[in-house]
Amino acid sequence: ATFSELGIHKSYIKGLKELNIVKPTEIQETVIPVLLESKTDLIGLAQTGTGKTAAFGLPVLHAIDTYNSSVQALIIAPTRELVQQIQKQLFRFTKYIEHKIFAEGVYGGEKIDKQINKLKRTTHIIVATPGRLLDLIERGAVDISKIKILVLDEADEMLSMGFKEDLNKILKFNTSRRNTWLFSATMPVEIKNIIKNYMSPNAVRV
Ligand code: AMP
Repeated sequence: ATFSELGIHKSYIKGLKELNIVKPTEIQETVIPVLLESKTDLIGLAQTGTGKTAAFGLPVLHAIDTYNSSVQALIIAPTRELVQQIQKQLFRFTKYIEHKIFAEGVYGGEKIDKQINKLKRTTHIIVATPGRLLDLIERGAVDISKIKILVLDEADEMLSMGFKEDLNKILKFNTSRRNTWLFSATMPVEIKNIIKNYMSPNAVRV
């Protein structure tokens, strides 16, 4: 299939082509139609390098209402490097779309005041490491009460880095109205607990 056939809007196709992203990978072919068509939770067993960033990133972008300036999607990843990588990919995907979508990356190790100022501008998507995100929420600099989608990327990595408490606190916010998409390379018991406690029993598994 092509990305158009999977349901990706034509304004994205040129940007993807410039990145040599023309033929969907296996995970993209499976995940994209599901996430575009229905409001669902998703559990993806996936390694890096499989194209999973586009598999969740493109559906996240399609879910953003650009006439609404509130934060509508939150993507959590274990490291600063991964956060920056995801943010950069989202930016590149949106190069030719009609209405700008703003994604901001926040992570530890950078001045928090600088990040608070950036977040005062319109931000549709926040990409964040768990600790820094929680800090920003507690300072009132980030409001995640209106998010429609929460993505947990490399969830097993986040747990093995000691982010379990932080993740649980973040997951407790507005559980009812959002969909959660969890990606992990392995499924240890702590991940199964997150799935059981915070995700729909009808979650799609891929
Ligand atoms: P990821 O697994 O999301 O970290 O992606 C790994 C690399 O594969 C990134 O550099 C992507 O730009 C690239 N990529 C993602 N999807 C495709 C695709 N369908 N065809 C070719 N390259 C891709």
